[in-house]
Amino acid sequence: MFIPSFEEMIKLSQFLYKNKDKTIILINNNKEIDNLMNSLKKFLINQKINSKINYLSYNQINIKKNNKIIQENIFIIEDTPSNKIYCKDNKLNYFLISKHSLEAIDNFINTKYINEIEININDHCNLKCKSCSHYSNLAYEHYLDINIFEKDIKRISELIDENTKLFIFGGEPLLVNNIIDYLKILKQYLPNNYLEIRSNGILLIENKENYDELLNYCQKNNIVIGISVYPINDKYIKDLKNLELELNKVKIKTNFIWFQHDKLFSKDKRFLNKNLKINKYDYIGCIGNYAPIAVLKEGKIYHCPICAYIKYFNEYFKVNLETLNEDYIDIYQVNSAQEIIDFLLKPTPFCNYCDVQNRTLEKWNLSEFKIDEYI
Ligand code: SF4
Ligand code: SF4
Repeated sequence: MFIPSFEEMIKLSQFLYKNKDKTIILINNNKEIDNLMNSLKKFLINQKINSKINYLSYNQINIKKNNKIIQENIFIIEDTPSNKIYCKDNKLNYFLISKHSLEAIDNFINTKYINEIEININDHCNLKCKSCSHYSNLAYEHYLDINIFEKDIKRISELIDENTKLFIFGGEPLLVNNIIDYLKILKQYLPNNYLEIRSNGILLIENKENYDELLNYCQKNNIVIGISVYPINDKYIKDLKNLELELNKVKIKTNFIWFQHDKLFSKDKRFLNKNLKINKYDYIGCIGNYAPIAVLKEGKIYHCPICAYIKYFNEYFKVNLETLNEDYIDIYQVNSAQEIIDFLLKPTPFCNYCDVQNRTLEKWNLSEFKIDEYI
């Protein structure tokens, strides 16, 4: 999936927040990216960021400059040297946005299909990372009822097309003894969609023989084994390197994400604070992270795991971060995938809990089960 730069989107939301209620002008000096700038404008309007958004090309700026129209406006500039932009009192605020993020926003706003659906078939995990976004460090043993799963997948198959990628998540999904039964259901209803199981790999390196049947099934049915490789220790990493080679040798498709390279793989430090006021700028920061993802949980689609699995956080820390009816969309109430896409494009009330502008990245570590991993 094509995601905008996390840091850049956080900075953009901070920039827009700092300059709220001022006119925003998008400027671009490159004809080729006109359509991308238009998408950015559409995106900002969609988020109700500012009713006065103008879009000018660099040549138009020169014209306006001579007419002295531009004074203290806010500029969002792609590839435009700031010293060439006229500003009456030199109080020029500008924001540089990369072509990569523009393309990701364009993809996000103009998508005709849901990029990715994530489904937890169980919520608990054998690793328990600090700040786990699924709260699997805090979750008790819980498996998704396979009948609910089948009913939901059947319904989803009526809504989506083959472009949507499906990810089996947890928790650690390899803790589910009958995981193949879940995969069979997916293959029955959505035979041609990309399907990946996302695991931390620990069980595969400890007891690979227990998973021979699963691995065979994946190989025959084109199912990808996705491994998130955390910087746990050198042995774990070495074992996973060998596992990747082994799986590839027998033509099992893999998607290993090697977070350990810079030893800095981090989880977001989110600020879940129920006293935060509505801040429509935050969701913009979030699209570099969760927002384009659909999380399916028992007939409902949520924007992110933070919201979908909040009950574990609430129960563990004895707090009450509420989810409201507006925080999800019911797959049995919608008539098309487009309704789900429209829902995913906008923030929900739960987003008010996330102080995205102050979200930070931290080093990976094991959880100490403390609330300050999140707040
Ligand atoms: S981040 Fe992944 S491996 Fe770590 S606790 Fe959460 S689900 Fe488990
Ligand atoms: S609740 Fe909203 S702002 Fe928070 S992580 Fe989820 S999508 Fe992002």
